[in-house]
Amino acid sequence: MKNFIRKKEDFVCQKCGEKVEGDGYTDHCPKCLWGKHVDGKIPGDRASECRGLMEPLGTEYVRGEFRINYRCEKCGHEFRVWADEDDDREILLKLTIVR
Ligand SMILES: [Zn+2]
Ligand SMILES: [Zn+2]
Repeated sequence: MKNFIRKKEDFVCQKCGEKVEGDGYTDHCPKCLWGKHVDGKIPGDRASECRGLMEPLGTEYVRGEFRINYRCEKCGHEFRVWADEDDDREILLKLTIVR
């Protein structure tokens, strides 16, 4: 179940320059996992005016899926998103927080 507002948009990663094809859910770069702070309270709502870079701080492996913890470099806003299937597994694994 995804509480997500779908909106297709392509973007160029500001961290590594990767051209990311948006599938409507994409909110971060699959190559380096950095994202952009565009969402407000609901993931996908694109309600934030911040546009700062979101740093992937760590990932958690939950019920067979990766979840990525982000913090915005600019305003410090923190949130978590589920990883996409095309996300770089090696980076996801490297960032995994062992509890
Ligand atoms: Zn990137
Ligand atoms: Zn921000």
